[in-house]
Amino acid sequence: MPVTPAHERTLSQISLADFTTWKVGGPAEWFAEPASGEELVALARWALTEKLPLRLIGAGSNLLVSDGGLAGLTLCNRRLQGSVIDAASGLVEAQAGEPIPTLARKAARAGLSGLEWAVGIPGTVGGAAVMNAGAQGGCTADWLQEVTVLDPGRGDGPFVLQASELEFDYRHSRLQAEPLLVLSARFRLSSGHDPAEISRRTSANLSSRTSSQPYQQPSCGSVFRNPEPRKAGQLIEQLGLKGLALGGAMVSPIHANFIVNTGGASAADIEQLIRLVQQRVFSVHGIELHTEVKRLGDFPCGVA
Ligand SMILES: Cc1cc2nc3c(=O)[nH]c(=O)nc-3n(C[C@H](O)[C@H](O)[C@H](O)COP(=O)(O)OP(=O)(O)OC[C@H]3O[C@@H](n4cnc5c(N)ncnc54)[C@H](O)[C@@H]3O)c2cc1C
Repeated sequence: MPVTPAHERTLSQISLADFTTWKVGGPAEWFAEPASGEELVALARWALTEKLPLRLIGAGSNLLVSDGGLAGLTLCNRRLQGSVIDAASGLVEAQAGEPIPTLARKAARAGLSGLEWAVGIPGTVGGAAVMNAGAQGGCTADWLQEVTVLDPGRGDGPFVLQASELEFDYRHSRLQAEPLLVLSARFRLSSGHDPAEISRRTSANLSSRTSSQPYQQPSCGSVFRNPEPRKAGQLIEQLGLKGLALGGAMVSPIHANFIVNTGGASAADIEQLIRLVQQRVFSVHGIELHTEVKRLGDFPCGVA
């Protein structure tokens, strides 16, 4: 059967607002959702040959994409789903596009403990590895064993990086600084637990989050990193900034570290509100808030 060339599997001028949970962002010059690891590798090679900038996104749940959109090729891996779970050993192999809540549920049903915290994080396995996503006392680094990655700048194939090579820290990994594409991840979870009990803990974690965070409106979760030992949300709330709005962007009245899109927000609205909150917090508390959310594209006033 003839194989379709990579460039024929791309679309042009696709709105990235449809691929971010904030529902903002301009068009991708070129866009594709590879359905297999091989297709992803072929598309990355095409971008290399054409000298196009390349980036891979997951569920877009930690992204602020500029209104001007993105030059080059944007790949979204949400079609690269699936996982293999060995309940006896606790080993879990997951494709990078597998939603991390789906994986958490599957692990719970297999009697595997470790990912109960992940159920409320609307990202992918790849995004969780890049961000060292975590919540409610757990994080990706606690359970990840290795990732299979592709370096799109090199012509060779995928290779494995051990967790010890990923420089995990609070919401940080080496994968944020290097242009490596995560294709899959392997976790070692704790086996032999009662599936009903793990599922109950997983569900309890989800309901405690949905009752305290604005899950009904488009957001990217926590906008700012916590300036440990302080909590960004508390610093913002103490200044009475809940409900502060700029265009269609608003500091959530439910959780001050969330900025929600109340309808029709632009990326510029969100960016300006981020800067306003940073300025207010700095002027009163003398603390610089740094963003957890990743910006893609050009933001005229620079990046904090
Ligand atoms: C309602 C809500 C609640 C949230 N709660 C939490 C929380 O409790 N804890 C937490 O840590 N986060 C939370 N988040 C933020 C977000 O879900 C996490 O950061 C998540 O890990 C991002 O995954 P993603 O697949 O959406 O990545 P994206 O947002 O698509 O991408 C994030 C970054 O990772 C890169 N990337 C993604 N996939 C790959 C890949 N396969 N290979 C290489 N690079 C890749 C992207 O290029 C980008 O730089 C929340 C978000 C929302 C909307």
